[in-house]
Amino acid sequence: MGITRVAIAGSTGSIGTQTLDFVAQSEGQFEVVGLGVGSSVDEVIAQAKLWKPKVVAVANEDARKRVAEALPEVQVVAEQTALAEVADVVVNAVVGFAGLSVTMSTLQQGKRLALANKESLIAAGPVVQPLRKIPGAHIVPVDSEHCAIHQCLRSSGNEHREVQRLLLTASGGPFRGRTKESLAHVTVEEALKHPTWSMGPKITVDSSTLMNKGLEVIEAHELFGTGFDQIDVVVHPQSVVHSMVEFTDGAVIAQLSMPDMRLPIAYALSYPQRASVPFGAIDWSTLARLDFEAPDTQTFVCLNLAYEAGRIGGTAPAWLSAANEVAVEAFLSGKITWSRIPEVIDATLQQHDGLVPTIVEDILHADALARRFALQVLAA
Ligand code: NAD
Ligand code: MG
Repeated sequence: MGITRVAIAGSTGSIGTQTLDFVAQSEGQFEVVGLGVGSSVDEVIAQAKLWKPKVVAVANEDARKRVAEALPEVQVVAEQTALAEVADVVVNAVVGFAGLSVTMSTLQQGKRLALANKESLIAAGPVVQPLRKIPGAHIVPVDSEHCAIHQCLRSSGNEHREVQRLLLTASGGPFRGRTKESLAHVTVEEALKHPTWSMGPKITVDSSTLMNKGLEVIEAHELFGTGFDQIDVVVHPQSVVHSMVEFTDGAVIAQLSMPDMRLPIAYALSYPQRASVPFGAIDWSTLARLDFEAPDTQTFVCLNLAYEAGRIGGTAPAWLSAANEVAVEAFLSGKITWSRIPEVIDATLQQHDGLVPTIVEDILHADALARRFALQVLAA
């Protein structure tokens, strides 16, 4: 096997840096050929000096000029789409809808997409799906739940038939067990204290509202073609069982490992082989218990909103995800309380125009429209 050329869009974030950590531990199996960021100048310059990629993509214009000055020997570009041109596999670790161009360009160029950026697939499912038929194009999920399901389906030797349901596990986030009333005045700091995972701020807030799990239900539907009635969420606070597949005879196959995102990252980069570094190995002598409970959808209504949008389909998931991005940003910058997040999303979804997307412009339009409505709701 030759060296796999890897490009990482969002290389300075939580997933991006963990990807580089895995590559560093993989002794010459991978070559980092591309790095991409939004505006993290110093971080990406330091990464580029260490990894010597061919291409560095920087979305922000001012940041791009500074990066280009510091790296005269590297091709510094604006578009993350350049990453797929030089790589065998692209890790999409961009946060939010901004990751759409990475998802589309990687598949369009017939490359493997190691997908952490769930928002692109959720918002643009109808236009991303046809791209998966392009020869060589292939999604391997990095989101731990979907990576787990990918592994369960693969191990069953029967990838799509006889599946009864997918069981996505959720840690429950920092507010598990709390009532709606007690959550009225939680702070940003409290929402950012995730019990089992250390992640970027957006997904950490999404985990506190259970919107992350809602988005993952839609992500599972898109990735595996499973109907919404056959995707269930189970709260599992230890984050050791990463998800499960139940078959028609009642048998369940689960994937277990300690919570460490480097395992799903390594899985997606090494696929179809398995990585030789055991990031998530369990010490069974200290693993005392595994608990499971039903999600509290009275308190965490975002999960219901996501199922609703997923069932409507078309551009509704794009609206859901865009409204959520606006609401989470407003919460993080102190403009709204935590309990306003689902209200903003719900009010925005009420305005959904029912557009059925056929081309990417329809998705871009839906995203922009939903953001405009969400901002209006915020201002009202
Ligand atoms: P993060 O905030 O830590 O990092 C985001 C990265 O995206 C940074 O490198 C930033 O420079 C880059 N970026 C931002 N805007 C950009 C733009 N317009 N163009 C190009 N790059 C841009 O985020 P994260 O926690 O690493 O999450 C990344 C994605 O992975 C999200 O979609 C998240 O839902 C998903 N994910 C993350 C985890 C985790 O453990 N962090 C787990 C599962 C899924
Ligand atoms: Mg996940």
